[in-house]
Amino acid sequence: MINRYYLLPFRFERIGKQELLVNELGDYIFVPTGTINRIVNHLLKKQEGLYKDLISNFFISESPIPELIDNMATRLRTKKAFLDSFTSLHIFVLTLRCNQNCIYCQASSKDSSEALYDMNEKHLFKAIDLMFRSPSHSITMEFQGGEPSLPFHILQKAVERVTELNEKYKKQITYVLCTNSINLTEEVLCLCKEYNILISTSLDGSAFIHNHNRGKNDSYKRVIEGISKARNYLGTDRVSALMTTSELSLNYPKEIIDNYLSNGFNNIFLRPLNPYGLALNNTDWDTYFDKFITFYKSALNYIIDINIQGIFFVEEFTAILLRKMLTPFTTGFVDLQSPTGIINSVVVYNYDGYVYASDESRMLAEYHDYTFRLGHVTDKYESLFYGKKAQQIALIGGTEFIAGCADCAFQSYCGADPVRNHSTQNDMYGFRPTSSFCKKHKAIITYLFYLIQKEHDRVMPIFKQWINKNENGF
Ligand code: SF4
Repeated sequence: MINRYYLLPFRFERIGKQELLVNELGDYIFVPTGTINRIVNHLLKKQEGLYKDLISNFFISESPIPELIDNMATRLRTKKAFLDSFTSLHIFVLTLRCNQNCIYCQASSKDSSEALYDMNEKHLFKAIDLMFRSPSHSITMEFQGGEPSLPFHILQKAVERVTELNEKYKKQITYVLCTNSINLTEEVLCLCKEYNILISTSLDGSAFIHNHNRGKNDSYKRVIEGISKARNYLGTDRVSALMTTSELSLNYPKEIIDNYLSNGFNNIFLRPLNPYGLALNNTDWDTYFDKFITFYKSALNYIIDINIQGIFFVEEFTAILLRKMLTPFTTGFVDLQSPTGIINSVVVYNYDGYVYASDESRMLAEYHDYTFRLGHVTDKYESLFYGKKAQQIALIGGTEFIAGCADCAFQSYCGADPVRNHSTQNDMYGFRPTSSFCKKHKAIITYLFYLIQKEHDRVMPIFKQWINKNENGF
């Protein structure tokens, strides 16, 4: 006899010998193999514990419209809260000039003397006006390059202008200077102190890895000096570092983490290379992502062991995913958003006044691909943010409705990335079975579920600490 209950939207995946069910709200449940077949064929019995679990966790319902539908709506709204305020990250590419030669440079940097590649004041002020048009109350203004501390006068003008205009707009502004820390002069640090500018630097691990990646023999020494100077001047918590995993780095997960620990960091972001700029030609992309996934697993296990020994140290990409998987909340991480983070959460004002949908979009433009150019800072806000290009992107920018993602169990934890699809597959819509973006996220999320399920007692106390840290905003 068919039992009367109704299926709510959920997706599933086999992990090991179990089935993982994930509902529309991102809640998950592990069940024995064969359960999905029983659910869809209405073979569950009311007396079963599983039946009650599935009812209370919004996988099935006893009425066509669940009694707690308002509750579900509130939960879904919380998951999509990043949309409430629209674009909140505004990236200003102050220059393409740089004083390093990174082998994976994605920004098409120019020699440090070519002032031709600096943003001019007119474009800067127009871009700031556009930034203030954003409905978001909290704005992050991020300075990038090249090396954005090189045109110091423009950096200074930017923060002075924003401070002046903000007397009227009264937004909460966070400034971030993305710097290689080679040029952290007294002048730059003084400005950072006065305007509360956070420093985000790059550190790829031990000297031989970092110097190799930078194409310079003294880069590591100078970055460490720069970090130490910035910490002394601004405070330890005002300086963070990003790591990029070059092909050389893939062989040294433990050494890289030990290096971060020895340099006083309590976190790391294991960031893969992206297929843009110089990295596009300098990397074997057929094998890179498989190797990166092995690297990630080995590094994560090492980090978990370090935490077990009593040292608090977070892998930030994992912490972002765990927050999506284990809490009702979302994150501001633009790469894992649906609708896509480009335009909805981030926009880029390039040094030459052109406006792009994301950082990767402006990198494509350096190679004469203007697909994601939204317009110019002299254009109207509406035409840039709601114009034809923005509408075209919106039509294919959601995991909920693009082929492959629409049926994927990991949909609520993942994101849509039309720029990556375009650059690697020559098609904004993308094809998930051969997508490296998809492969990487599927592998990492599957591995996290494996750890949560099979090594629960070992990993969960640590994972909970990482989530709490993020929730408290430390
Ligand atoms: S990109 Fe891949 S892992 Fe992510 S939601 Fe789409 S199909 Fe799933």
